[in-house]
Amino acid sequence: MSDHHNPFEAMQARLKVAAELYGLEDALFKVFMAPSRSMIVSLPVMMDDGHWEVFQGYRVQHNVARGPAKGGIRYDKNVTLDEVKALSAWMTWKCAVVDVPFGGGKGGIICDPTKMSQGELERLTRRYIAEIMDIIGPDRDVPAPDMGTNAQTMAWVLDTYSMHVRSTSNAVVTGKPLGIGGSLGRNEATGRGVLIVAREAMQRLGKHLAGATVAVQGFGNVGSQSARLLHEAGARVIAVSDVSGAIKNDRGLDIHALMKHVAETKGVAGFKGGEAMEPAELLTLPVDVLVPGAMENQITEDNAAKIKAKVIVEGANGPTTPEADPILLDNGVLVVPDILANAGGVTVSYFEWVQNRQGFYWREREVNERLVEYMVHAFQQVFATTDKYKTNPRIGAYILALDKVSQAMHYRGFYA
Ligand code: NAD
Repeated sequence: MSDHHNPFEAMQARLKVAAELYGLEDALFKVFMAPSRSMIVSLPVMMDDGHWEVFQGYRVQHNVARGPAKGGIRYDKNVTLDEVKALSAWMTWKCAVVDVPFGGGKGGIICDPTKMSQGELERLTRRYIAEIMDIIGPDRDVPAPDMGTNAQTMAWVLDTYSMHVRSTSNAVVTGKPLGIGGSLGRNEATGRGVLIVAREAMQRLGKHLAGATVAVQGFGNVGSQSARLLHEAGARVIAVSDVSGAIKNDRGLDIHALMKHVAETKGVAGFKGGEAMEPAELLTLPVDVLVPGAMENQITEDNAAKIKAKVIVEGANGPTTPEADPILLDNGVLVVPDILANAGGVTVSYFEWVQNRQGFYWREREVNERLVEYMVHAFQQVFATTDKYKTNPRIGAYILALDKVSQAMHYRGFYA
């Protein structure tokens, strides 16, 4: 990854603009520009054929002023320390935007989970958790799924941590399977959050979501659930993509049938209910709503001017580079920024953590209703801040977060 598209520098660039507009004092600015703790671990794992591989893993805690660090674990061959640092900082701002009492953390391991067996993934996960054991915990740092990890990975996290502390500690991780303390609604929570803010954004433009056209990049947890929920809400999802390719159907894709196809074949390519298209073209289709739901640096200075969507809802973290922001703004594209748009996941992770600590579990309706309350409130606060500071929604969201995190820092003071 070139420095030009370094996600940590992209975070710092937005932070700098927001801090200046907000009038953040210099000491706090310096604190927020770097994570408070970064851990690098080497993970020896015996592979199925008997040979040993040593993987590199990271856990970064950006800021814990508002509560324990919170953030996913990513398994991907392109993970870098700077990527994990950026993701941890975005978690600080995201938790503040939706007002859940957590700080920001993130983890990652450089590996290709698509080429590893379940046994290899389990051994890798257990060794990683054993190595970062001292800095995680229900009151310290609470991991969750991200790219390349899922509920099964979180179950191994729970078990490894619990074996070391000698008691079952299910609040150490969220996004777990239901039978061991997971929350109803967590699996689809990020997608549900995307749906909620897409509806709010369309309303702001005086338009309805029902009947609106949608394109979704990525068809993993975030992309597939966003597409499904938007489809069920009456929107017409006309294109989706993943690493296997991209497909399109102007009359609208049958998302339920597509999910079945992906479960069987592991990719959207070859789906009979649509025709193949060039993946890069998906981003520039003339749709009402574009959901980049795969990874960072997809909307750049190279393609931003060609984007025809009216609304972009950033399901992924960091899909838009700082250079692309002003181009989209000039073209009147309403961007719902990542730290608001994909915060449904961490919000229901918070609900899961609360349920674990209370030992009392909510019905799905309660989870979903509370999620709507949190997301709509956050959306309104972000746009009120945007108006107050006469800026764009991304910087508005950063300012809202900076205000909350810096207040917490002031209450607590610097311990020197
Ligand atoms: P995932 O591993 O479940 O899915 C990733 C998807 O992206 C896969 O379908 C993959 O094929 C696709 N993809 C990868 N490279 C692509 C490319 N170049 N073009 C098109 N598709 C591509 O991961 P996920 O959990 O859905 O996470 C996706 C994004 O959402 C990440 O940025 C993640 O940080 C963010 N996010 C996830 C959650 C969550 O709860 N899982 C919450 C907030 C944000």
